[in-house]
Amino acid sequence: MTLWPRHATWNGPIVMIGLGSIGRGTLPLILRHIACDRSKFTIIDPDDHNRHLADKEGIAFIKEAVTAKNYKSLLTPLLTAGPGQAFIVNLSVDVSSVDIQKLAQATGSLYIDTVVEPWPGFYYNSKLDNADRTNYAMREHVLALKEKYKGGHTSVSCCGANPGMVSWFVKQALLDIADETGVKVKEPATREGWGKLMKRLGVKGIHIAERDTQRAKRPKPLDTFVNTWSVEGFISEGLQPAELGWGTHEKKLPPGGKKHKSGCGAAIYITRPGAETKVRSWTPTPGPQYGFLVTHNEAISIADYFTVRDGRKVAYRPTCHYAYHPSNDAVLSLHEMFGNGGKKQSKIHILEEDEIVDGRDELGVLLYGHKKNAYWYGSQLTIEEARKLAPNQNATGLQVTSAVLAGMIWAIENPKAGVVETDEMDFRRCLEVQLPYLGQMTGVYTSWNPLTDRQTLFEEDIDKRDPWQFANIIVK
Ligand code: NAD
Repeated sequence: MTLWPRHATWNGPIVMIGLGSIGRGTLPLILRHIACDRSKFTIIDPDDHNRHLADKEGIAFIKEAVTAKNYKSLLTPLLTAGPGQAFIVNLSVDVSSVDIQKLAQATGSLYIDTVVEPWPGFYYNSKLDNADRTNYAMREHVLALKEKYKGGHTSVSCCGANPGMVSWFVKQALLDIADETGVKVKEPATREGWGKLMKRLGVKGIHIAERDTQRAKRPKPLDTFVNTWSVEGFISEGLQPAELGWGTHEKKLPPGGKKHKSGCGAAIYITRPGAETKVRSWTPTPGPQYGFLVTHNEAISIADYFTVRDGRKVAYRPTCHYAYHPSNDAVLSLHEMFGNGGKKQSKIHILEEDEIVDGRDELGVLLYGHKKNAYWYGSQLTIEEARKLAPNQNATGLQVTSAVLAGMIWAIENPKAGVVETDEMDFRRCLEVQLPYLGQMTGVYTSWNPLTDRQTLFEEDIDKRDPWQFANIIVK
């Protein structure tokens, strides 16, 4: 008997774009859990440093960049080679999610990615207005696709750990809080139902609260950006404006805070880089900690999903944002980079599983403002556990790749759902697939709030009447 279940069978081609830290970890999970024909599996990446992993599995590798010019001619023959429908797994940087999703619809393929990624030239374009460099703006393009391809081939947008898995955690956390506070509920079956439940429980906001304590065997060298996942990905999102879903309980915009002129209206942006914007938050291991308010799609999609409307008026919306304490080496790398005017170091390095001494990634959702103050629900996955559970990845990677796997299984089981975000997927089924890879799952209440232990030595401008105002959370 095998320990690992086969969740699905896929007879058509699989085309994976990008074999970086997430691609190399996703590959063994697909091969373990989806019965597929390796002769129809192709991986494309301009960098071949992980090619040996494809070769070892008998999977074709094309050493080429997918570009705005060549994507149709390069991908179409692979996607239409048959027999049967193809699946595009986009785990690259610098390849437009929106254009590849359109091609997926045109070729009748299923699709999944972990972020809304643009073609090169978007993130660092100083000619673009800050509002246009936001994830809000990119997500609006995905929402337009959603309208266009209603009932089309399933195309899962932003299904990694966060964005992705954390949207499933929010629903489980709400049910836990309802249970603990004696609120009798039937599990909601609609978006409106979930919004009403969150409102009824009095949740004011949600932090995607993460602490990565993985430590490298070798200390970070000078002029090298070290991270536990994509350095390119982290720098580009870190230099976008900070962004957050903007809740109805908030009294005033933060300094530099701006509303968007069009679109869903669920989020604001702040005219400063997210990776240089600190917020006060909480995770189980350190307790209170600083995190970076790096922009992420889930901050917007969760705030949007749980919005309750009264006619056209917004009656309720939670605040939602990332509060990310990356590995210590990544914190030092950001410090070094911003100290040098935001210029990227001359070398970059992603820590592989055998370069890490110890530590874990704890990634969860902190739902605050309700009867029991705040509740963190999430995964605490150690590097030792990650090594045992699956090859080619550290703890951070496994939280992401197992979400990609769950999203793929859901897509195969629901092939005509059109363009979807993870908030709209069956959270129970997705977590069922993913949980064996998440280490210790923890749900814990805390009495901490952002005013705890404040104002002992210095006067501060704080709102004592409502500790959970964003004005108290942001570090000014
Ligand atoms: P990485 O930098 O390790 O790998 C990216 C890969 O894309 C590299 O191998 C690179 O050569 C390849 N690539 C670059 N340009 C390409 C092109 N034009 N065509 C094809 N391939 C190209 O990054 P990663 O850590 O593997 O992350 C991959 C993506 O997943 C990034 O967009 C990242 O932001 C995202 N991500 C999402 C989550 C989440 O939880 N949602 C977590 C981690 C990473």
